[in-house]
Parts: sequence; structure tokens; C-alpha cells
Amino acid sequence: MKVDLRKIYRFDPVARNEDGSLPKGGNVYYECDECKVIVASVSHIKAACECGNVAGGGGATEIKEPTKINPLRGTLK
Ligand SMILES: [Zn+2]
Repeated sequence: MKVDLRKIYRFDPVARNEDGSLPKGGNVYYECDECKVIVASVSHIKAACECGNVAGGGGATEIKEPTKINPLRGTLK
């Protein structure tokens, strides 16, 4: 089942870390540049974007192309 997180959260851009890596946290989400699907940066349930660039689950996220990720901060609406 697909859940559109945009219906639940308001998303605002968040800066990358100074070393260029992606921030991570309970309120940080990754928007895939390719397919525009949003996946939590710390995902306890299995989640993946449509093109396979981001895949998460078990509290970790794997990213194939970090340059094609927009880090976002999610706030419950
Ligand atoms: Zn994707």
C-alpha cells in the first residue's frame, strides 16, 4: 500500500551537512529527484521510492545516488 506522506506532513527543504552528506533524523525525509517519492530517512517499515534510488527499512536507509536526493524536514499538518 502506498502512503502519500505529503497528505500527512508539510515538507520544508533542509540543508545538507557541511561535508555534503545527507542529514538524518526522525523528522528528516528524502525526496527522490527522479520519481519525487518521499521516504523517511529513518524508516522502520519497509519503504522505497519508485525508481529504486532510495530504499529503507529496519531503521536504516540505502541511497544509490545521494546527489539525486532532496532532504526535507517533515512537520505533521
Ligand atoms: Zn526514485
